[in-house]
Amino acid sequence: MKITRATFDECMFPCYTPLDLLLVKGKGAVLTDSEGRTYLDLTAGIAVNSLGHCPKLLNKVLKKQSRTLIHCSNIFANKYTLTLAKTLQEKTPFERFFFVNSGAEANEAALKLARRYAFDKYGAEKADIISFSHSFHGRTFFTVTVGGQDKYSDGFGPKPGAVIHVPFNDIEALKQVLSDKTCAIIAEPVQGEGGIIPAEPGFLAQVKELAHSVNALLIFDEVQTGNARTGKLYAWEHSGVQPDILTTAKGLGGGLPIGAVMTSAEIASHFGPGTHGSTFGGNPLICAAATEILKEISSDKFLSKVNERAELLTAELNKIADKSPLIAKVRGLGLLQGLVLAEEYAGKAGEIQRFLVNYGVLCLTAGGSVLRIAPPLNIKKSQLRQACAKIAEGLEDYSRIHQI
Ligand SMILES: *Cc1c(COP(=O)(O)O)cnc(C)c1O
Repeated sequence: MKITRATFDECMFPCYTPLDLLLVKGKGAVLTDSEGRTYLDLTAGIAVNSLGHCPKLLNKVLKKQSRTLIHCSNIFANKYTLTLAKTLQEKTPFERFFFVNSGAEANEAALKLARRYAFDKYGAEKADIISFSHSFHGRTFFTVTVGGQDKYSDGFGPKPGAVIHVPFNDIEALKQVLSDKTCAIIAEPVQGEGGIIPAEPGFLAQVKELAHSVNALLIFDEVQTGNARTGKLYAWEHSGVQPDILTTAKGLGGGLPIGAVMTSAEIASHFGPGTHGSTFGGNPLICAAATEILKEISSDKFLSKVNERAELLTAELNKIADKSPLIAKVRGLGLLQGLVLAEEYAGKAGEIQRFLVNYGVLCLTAGGSVLRIAPPLNIKKSQLRQACAKIAEGLEDYSRIHQI
């Protein structure tokens, strides 16, 4: 069977427009296409491939676990899911864990849990969910409605109600809508898809104080910022503002689909038997793999290396921003960085991303005006330097061609 990039248009839903290449393999931070061309990968599968492509650690644990127990459903307890939960219990202050297959499902569960908690304790009236403009929480209908980008939720019929949006980093706007009906406030510590926008210093602490002043829960969506991406195991640790519920996914499985909801024993107790569930969520194969990933990425040694690489990356990106008229500034946290396009080039991120493919470097976008950089957490420093050199060269040529 002859498979090319054109095959995509013949057999797939057209909701993606993949770059003009067909990937066939990956190792570490390098991807190879069907023509044998190689690319330095600064996307890591959208902040998923924590240890790069096909790491030995996953080869080993998947081989072993695939001969031991792959799936058994949650009607049975199994050793591997519980090992992951116990490991998270050791490495975070949270007490109870629920496993799912994706970020959207983690947020869906967290939002349902917050609603149920408020319903049980304060009654049906307490149902308002406050979220922030430009936030992204996934593509199920509830999470996409809670997300702060109407373009993703419009056109699908009536939306789930009692969802309120206010501008991010605007505490006064939040005060305006906060009430006794508020059941939860949900935020990303650094908005990812929305444009790599970090919370301003002090903002998250004020949000938590406001949430608790009306007995609402604070949910942090760390689907993207979690799992060592920002240089701490979870990004809330930078501010010290611990949420009531934390959700994560992306990097936790290092390339395998897993998400998690973490909270206290008291809050978790409101998800009693039958209230929620998942067939695949937390299956033994994925949990065995995630346990190994988690052990690796949570060590002090690993985290300090992430921070070293992040320092190098931001220095290199700042050099690019200083030199290129296309780039206004660099912003982000750890190994989640954004090159913010100058105002005149707003909306061009996708075009520039595609242009850079010709230089052998793969980046992401975050909205129309930010190039997002999220390499494997263990990318070599030499590869980071090389990738940034390719970006610099690409941007220079792009400017020349477009007479910027
Ligand atoms: C990617 C992402 C999601 C959605 O995760 P999926 O695994 O695609 O469902 C939710 N929240 C944030 C912050 C994300 O970055």
